[in-house]
Amino acid sequence: MRPLTVLPRHTNAMRLKAYDAAGTLLAEDTYYSVGGGFVLAESSAEEAAVAHQTPEVPHPFASPEELMAHVRATGMPMSEIMLANESALRSEKDVREGILQIWTVMEECRNSALTRSGPLPGGLKVRRRAPDWHARLSAEDPTRSYAYWQEWVNLTALAVNEENASGGRVVTAPTNGAAGIIPAVGVYATHYGAGSSFARTEDRERIVTTYLLTAAAVGVLYKEQASISGAEVGCQGEVGSASSMAAAGLCEVFGGTPAQVENAAEIAMEHSLGLTCDPVGGLVQVPCIERNAIAVSKAVNAARMALMGDGEHRVSLSEVIATMRETGKDMSDKYKETALGGLAVSVVEC
Ligand code: SF4
Repeated sequence: MRPLTVLPRHTNAMRLKAYDAAGTLLAEDTYYSVGGGFVLAESSAEEAAVAHQTPEVPHPFASPEELMAHVRATGMPMSEIMLANESALRSEKDVREGILQIWTVMEECRNSALTRSGPLPGGLKVRRRAPDWHARLSAEDPTRSYAYWQEWVNLTALAVNEENASGGRVVTAPTNGAAGIIPAVGVYATHYGAGSSFARTEDRERIVTTYLLTAAAVGVLYKEQASISGAEVGCQGEVGSASSMAAAGLCEVFGGTPAQVENAAEIAMEHSLGLTCDPVGGLVQVPCIERNAIAVSKAVNAARMALMGDGEHRVSLSEVIATMRETGKDMSDKYKETALGGLAVSVVEC
């Protein structure tokens, strides 16, 4: 298969064949990387489709309309709808512990990045920024004052994405390329919630749980209604979805009503529409690392804008997700992780 052959089922595909020593074909299959760490094999696609059917949960949803209908019917916020669904699959205690474990891994991957040195691997010689920024910020702002919130969340986004670029462990949220956004907005939620710095442990657990559950509920909508794969819909599906998820989570943490939370998710995606995937050298470094930090600001701003309103808004989350999907369909393959367009061809590689 030529490297640039695009298969009709999904743009991110790999066909593998196994031969014995005599050259006889023993097995072959085609694998599709559909985003978020999910890989489907052609031979088991039907099986996977069955496995993907919604399990028995109290509040099944695949669209914003269905999610909001559950919210209205139960009076529960999105995070509790998601918690109830997850708790149908495992105990609530396990769900809560698992969420905190995910948050711990997010913090660990940021901390790991701060201990690394030298350029990022891969040949572009991209300079790491997180370790130096951390040293400077720690000296300039030892008490984590609100005046420096932007610098601290930027640092987290850069660190997590530098860790991803270094082959370290990150939480796929919803993809590795966009893995810095949810941890960075989570830092804002836990450190600067209600104008205070450093939430107490019990507050932090509540904030993290609410934040990640709401973000996950919105992530489900993108996965079900559009795509979270840069190879399928461009970066709007990766960084855009992550920004939208984070905006929703932050809005709920800050006391937003479900309508405001839906509005926050919508705003963050509305202003990510058309975002192309054009990684220089095919590496998830430029523009990806900085792009995560920019998307963090967008998420925080989207949540703040939604909180200033009453939840009423012209464009619905459902409409913006559908627009993202259609925009992705219309987008040239040059801008879908192929490194054949945009910055990937404008920037001279070292
Ligand atoms: S530009 Fe492409 S590879 Fe980079 S974060 Fe966006 S979708 Fe991922």
